[in-house]
Amino acid sequence: MRRKIAAGNWKMNLDLEGGKQLASEVVNMVTDEVSKDIDVILIPPFTHLTTVKSLISGSSKVKLGAQNCHEEASGAYTGEISLEMLKSVGVEYVVIGHSERREYFGEDNALLAVKTKKVLDAGLTPIFCCGEKLEVREAGKHLELNKEQVEEALFGLSKEEISKVVIAYEPVWAIGTGVTASSDQAQEMHQYIRGVIAEKYDQETADGISILYGGSVKPGNAAEIFAKPDVDGGLVGGASLKSRDFTDIAKGF
Ligand code: PEP
Repeated sequence: MRRKIAAGNWKMNLDLEGGKQLASEVVNMVTDEVSKDIDVILIPPFTHLTTVKSLISGSSKVKLGAQNCHEEASGAYTGEISLEMLKSVGVEYVVIGHSERREYFGEDNALLAVKTKKVLDAGLTPIFCCGEKLEVREAGKHLELNKEQVEEALFGLSKEEISKVVIAYEPVWAIGTGVTASSDQAQEMHQYIRGVIAEKYDQETADGISILYGGSVKPGNAAEIFAKPDVDGGLVGGASLKSRDFTDIAKGF
């Protein structure tokens, strides 16, 4: 049975005080209001990980994620963070290949393949992001592009390894724009990605992988998107910065 997930990517927002307040509010609201068996993942900036970990440690529902990692274990990589460092502060999930990393930091599928494997080797769960830009969708090439991203970054993994990956389909045109993919567009892509995985591995493996939707998810649209059979939750940016909105999204299952 695949897991239902509501993950909040804070990106480069909030100082430590703001992060403490948000994490505390989310833990309280989720504990009181979210009865279903879902994983709520908070993904703050690196500087807030230890503090957020201490605030969520009493909750069985709320987990900790990081927004990125470096692929090397240690060494002369000024400004970077290793997986062992993330593990040592209680991180369980690592976002790999967010479109902002692809766009602004030149991360390509080959690098993301290496990073994904390293996250798994460290015993952590990658949240692997894929998604097309607007011009690709307008050209009718969105299925092809997402297939290519998944194949090039994930298909070097064994069946056991890919079973542990969480995938986030995040159409770039919907991230931070207020424009959400329709629930049908999300379902079409999620079903397609699951089919691509089934073809390479097998149906059972594909059916066990959680595929999240990301792109302007809000309390008003989460329930409709999450109701689709191949959508297993959301990777939420902007709306995860408000405890009320993020909790309401988590209640959308
Ligand atoms: C994201 O950054 O992963 C994201 C989906 O952002 P937003 O929800 O703000 O569109």
